[in-house]
Amino acid sequence: MTKKIDTHAHLGECCVFGLLSTEEEMLRRMDECEIDATIVQPYPGAKEAKKTHDQIADLCARHPGRFFGLASLSPHNETAVYEREVERCVKELNFVGVKLHTIGHGVNPLSEDGDRVFAAAHEFGVPAMVHTGPGVPFALPSLCIPAAKKYPGLNIILAHAGFAVFSAEAQVAASVCGNMFLETSWCIGEDIRWMINTIGAERVMMGADLPSNVPVEVAKYKALDLEPEVYDRVMGQTAIDVFNLRW
Ligand SMILES: [Zn+2]
Repeated sequence: MTKKIDTHAHLGECCVFGLLSTEEEMLRRMDECEIDATIVQPYPGAKEAKKTHDQIADLCARHPGRFFGLASLSPHNETAVYEREVERCVKELNFVGVKLHTIGHGVNPLSEDGDRVFAAAHEFGVPAMVHTGPGVPFALPSLCIPAAKKYPGLNIILAHAGFAVFSAEAQVAASVCGNMFLETSWCIGEDIRWMINTIGAERVMMGADLPSNVPVEVAKYKALDLEPEVYDRVMGQTAIDVFNLRW
């Protein structure tokens, strides 16, 4: 049976959004919702991203196969500092992706610092996940089109797929960029069906963002009555392929 993957979760504290996600809460929701594995990143408001990266690596080590790490730190750091940490996360901690947080880190995807994230992901051979939705104009899905064209070999995941209000734009961006994928947390159920029908299940993936939202996102996909092979793909296989997850 295809594993079920939550592609978007955070560990620790967030001083930007005033949130806290604990390991216990994540595991409880995963068990409750039959999620096999979760891709975990620091919140953009983590006091020390590097320390949270280490905590995520420790979490992955203590629960083999249940968690995968994703690097997230501000690209407004010195270039060498930023690149060294992304390299450490990918090569030493075996993280499977890098985050560009348009609102949490105040990053315009079209800027030099925004490009630093795409360039690092490209260089170290992992996908780049970009926050889209709240936080306009930086969080507009279309702002990722130039990077998708500049780095055709890089997989770009639009986190929240436009967050309902910009879901149509996320879908259009993905339709003109074959290397763009949609993670659908906070989207409307019927919009998810629309994305699957237009760009294909192999480019749509489930994500929850917060532990309390895991049951909600799983329920949305269940309510769509998808064909079993389509359901397996959006609930897990797309993420397994895009992030190259291995057990
Ligand atoms: Zn998030």
